[in-house]
Amino acid sequence: FDLKNEDLKDLHELGQGNGGSVKKVEHVPTKTMMAKKIVLIDAKPSVRKQILRELQIMHDCHSKYIISFYGAFLADPNICICMEYMDKGSLDNIYKKIGPIDIDIVGQVAFAVLEGLTYLYDVHRIIHRDIKPSNMLCNSRGEIKICDFGVSGELINSIADTFVGTSTYMSPERIQGAQYTVKSDVWSLGISLIELALGRFPFSESTSDESDSDFEGTLSPARPGSISLSGLPPARMKRNTPKKDKRKSKGVSLQGGGMTMSILELLQHIVNEPAPRLTPEDRYPKEAELFIDSCLLKDPDSRKTPKDLLNDAWMDQARQSTVNLEDWASTF
Ligand code: ATP
Ligand code: MG
Repeated sequence: FDLKNEDLKDLHELGQGNGGSVKKVEHVPTKTMMAKKIVLIDAKPSVRKQILRELQIMHDCHSKYIISFYGAFLADPNICICMEYMDKGSLDNIYKKIGPIDIDIVGQVAFAVLEGLTYLYDVHRIIHRDIKPSNMLCNSRGEIKICDFGVSGELINSIADTFVGTSTYMSPERIQGAQYTVKSDVWSLGISLIELALGRFPFSESTSDESDSDFEGTLSPARPGSISLSGLPPARMKRNTPKKDKRKSKGVSLQGGGMTMSILELLQHIVNEPAPRLTPEDRYPKEAELFIDSCLLKDPDSRKTPKDLLNDAWMDQARQSTVNLEDWASTF
């Protein structure tokens, strides 16, 4: 594909995230449906060109567990990234529509994500950095693929507000400022899998800022005394934010508003409290519980890598499973 913006016909919006919006478009010359991600980037032309160069690595990513990349181009002041269109959308929207996802399907999701992560790391030394249900996509052929991985260091630095959007799946070591590793993605996978199986975000007490979702129940009683900005050293907070801190200019301040406070409370909870588990016990296969427990070991040294987890007993079960994802995808 030699992609030009004028060859793309906008159909409708697929969704919006912190970094921009995604539209379903048709590449008219080839009649190909695509998802076009429009990212507003407030950066110098040299930085934009650098981002574009870095994104080209995606042309070399070929796996059935990774979204295909068609190309990227500048459309001032935006960067447009064109990728494979997945007609059943992302798993967050799917569970919000159909409710908690059957644990056998969740096992297939876990398998697909681990295969995708292992491919990215083994072949390209890419760490995903943003594993969550909205970055797991499904199509009517029953394929599950991951998208939005961190190929471009410059892009990661340039997107404002990533902090708010990604903090909730962040591992304890990341919150404390440690280096990102493939094991941080494993933590995010564990949180995502619980979310899919329960049909709600596992740390529900701190999600009042997620206005579009209607979470119920609480993980533990709120403890007002435990909420304080000093719970996380400012120096460490900075490590999680983009290098060029644009949050202030966008009106999000660390000290203002209940929204940021609840995020801090959540970060503190992730660091200090025991990890969430797949509960109630006895509702789910023991193998699923144990798999998720091992994704959510708080010490990254004890946590396995995606590749090691592919040998987990639950993943053996997933490989032998007879569940049909195509049939499942035809139910919504
Ligand atoms: P964040 O910005 O925090 O990462 P997000 O992943 O929801 O959140 P986007 O990546 O901008 O934000 O995506 C917005 C929505 O567009 C997604 O939730 C998903 O439902 C939809 N979407 C993204 N890519 C595709 C695709 N290739 N095919 C179909 N739908 C897509
Ligand atoms: Mg996304």
